[in-house]
Amino acid sequence: MATVVITGGNRGIGLHLARLYADAGHEVVIGVRRPEAAADAPGEALALDVGDDASVAAFAGSLNGRNVDILINNAGVSGPERQSARDTDFAGFLDTLNINTLGPLRVTQALLPNLRQAGNAKVAIVSSRMGSLASTEPDMVAYRASKAAVNKVAQCLATNLAADGIAIAALHPGWVRTDMGGPSADLAPEESARGLKEVIDGLSLATTGHFWNYDGGFLPW
Ligand code: NDP
Repeated sequence: MATVVITGGNRGIGLHLARLYADAGHEVVIGVRRPEAAADAPGEALALDVGDDASVAAFAGSLNGRNVDILINNAGVSGPERQSARDTDFAGFLDTLNINTLGPLRVTQALLPNLRQAGNAKVAIVSSRMGSLASTEPDMVAYRASKAAVNKVAQCLATNLAADGIAIAALHPGWVRTDMGGPSADLAPEESARGLKEVIDGLSLATTGHFWNYDGGFLPW
């Protein structure tokens, strides 16, 4: 049985990942902004705002030194209303970077002792193909930039944490029918979560430092 920590496990892709890991018999801890509103989610719900240093530190403390075998940095936002290249809400852009880019780094750093002591731990960062430098679509500048930047965070973590036996993956979940992806998206969240889980479960130091599609293929950074 592994201990799996999932940020933003109260709805969307994170909730479906939490269900899959709980159904597979693992201990699941979800980090959520409002634990009192996450009663239907599986596992233990602990307070976590990935955009806030003090909240992340308190979350790490509330794990009470237990091993973390798998950390899934899933929480994310789509960014402000105004985020075209011609008209950008800069405060909203900074919030997006704080949550989508710094959030996974903040949480991974805070949980490093828990990950290290687990031995052969895995850290997943749910990114987006919209952040790939190979894509030249021009919309949603803040969201795209935050995901491009978190991909670089994932690469740097992979190189740095290999010595601790910790494997890292950046993952694209597909276009998924959640509040963020909307009702016309290609994939049911269960299907995306199943694919993500398979990639995460198969991750090792031999495959650390890649950008994966939910179907197990590699994507260009
Ligand atoms: P949802 O909008 O359905 O869910 C987002 C989750 O993130 C919620 O649980 C939300 O919690 C949580 N969250 C947001 N901000 C914070 C924060 N500051 N601290 C803690 N939790 C937070 O999105 P999805 O499930 O669709 O997205 C999950 C991940 O997948 C994101 O990183 C997203 O960028 C990525 N992704 C999604 C795609 C899609 O098509 N859906 C495509 C590509 C990538 P709360 O309920 O409190 O708001």
